[in-house]
Amino acid sequence: MPKRLIRYAVVGLGHIAQAAVLPAFGNARRNSRLAAIVSGDPVKREEVKRRYGLDKAYSYEQYDQCLAGGAIDAVYIALPNHLHREYAERAARAGVHVLCEKPMALDEQECERMARAAREAGVKLMVAYRLHFERANLEAIETARSGRIGEPRLFNSTFVSPVVPGNIRVRRETGGGVLWDVGIYCINAARSLFGDEPLEVGAGLAGRAGEVEESASGWLRFPRQRLASFACSFGAAKVSAYRIVGTKGDLALDPAYEYAKPLKHRLTIDGEQRERRFARRDQFAPELLYFSDCVLQNRDPEPSAEEGLADVRVIRALYRSAETGRPVELAPFERRERPSLEQEIRRPPIEKPQVVHAQAPSGR
Ligand code: NDP
Repeated sequence: MPKRLIRYAVVGLGHIAQAAVLPAFGNARRNSRLAAIVSGDPVKREEVKRRYGLDKAYSYEQYDQCLAGGAIDAVYIALPNHLHREYAERAARAGVHVLCEKPMALDEQECERMARAAREAGVKLMVAYRLHFERANLEAIETARSGRIGEPRLFNSTFVSPVVPGNIRVRRETGGGVLWDVGIYCINAARSLFGDEPLEVGAGLAGRAGEVEESASGWLRFPRQRLASFACSFGAAKVSAYRIVGTKGDLALDPAYEYAKPLKHRLTIDGEQRERRFARRDQFAPELLYFSDCVLQNRDPEPSAEEGLADVRVIRALYRSAETGRPVELAPFERRERPSLEQEIRRPPIEKPQVVHAQAPSGR
């Protein structure tokens, strides 16, 4: 009998793991099963193990044991950013497939090491960009590509996600920083909507949130007269929106990047406006379903390591620009794959469970 189920260990039981990833397994039963958890907190290990009826719960010291035990086929890495590289590489070297939260890692070399480890071990590696499977965002990409708004020229985005002191997002050691956490969504959306890679970028930072900047503003110059700009922050009221403007019309998404709310489109073509609402859905189960299919059918997943690296190199260039006060040119970078509507997977929304020893970034 060919194998039909991919068994996952979720690594790191923080907020996103408990609020979104673990419950998503209920919507991904077709080909995915939660088989184990890895956590440094014994209370969480016991409680989550009991709640999900698991046999296996490991500490970080037992990670290699978890990887080698033959009870899992893949890991979902939901650790702070500074640990993505290490935990992905160790899994790959043990022959375990890797689904890793965004940002893929904290510099280009780390991304390349992860990609190499996966390639050498013959395992699949995917970066968990949930919006690459989500209808409102995929339709926006399709609209930009279709010519309905004419030639896309401008992208503009505001993404504010309030963060409480002490969170991993505002600590240097854990790979904090507003571009790594929220700016990445604006960058990924601009690259996907234009279907291209920036030639030059510039950024400025403002304020302090813990050990990092509170806000950042950036611009990305693309080939063919296209420009993206965005502002993101940890320290203002929650906003998650973008707008792409073409020579004939524009499309605005507000909210654009959320996973716990319905998303909205406002399309304006030749002065005529149309609004659409996209119901709230589970955005995490689609990643599991898709990734498991890639493993089972030996297909290369997309968003790939290359997609992860494409954002990381832009973020690094933006920070360099902010430090030097000068625009930064980027080396040519080829990406053939772009998100498309074919990747849409619909699953009903989940009920957010009570979380154990975890807190949303906003503290709520
Ligand atoms: P949390 O701080 O809530 O959780 C991180 C977890 O990692 C902790 O609870 C802890 O789990 C574990 N951990 C291991 N080592 C450390 C350490 N040195 N410091 C702190 N925590 C540690 O973060 P989130 O769940 O919000 O984010 C985790 C990852 O998911 C990040 O990479 C983030 O960018 C990404 N993310 C993605 C989202 C998306 O929509 N795709 C949304 C939110 C986050 P334990 O106690 O079990 O050991």
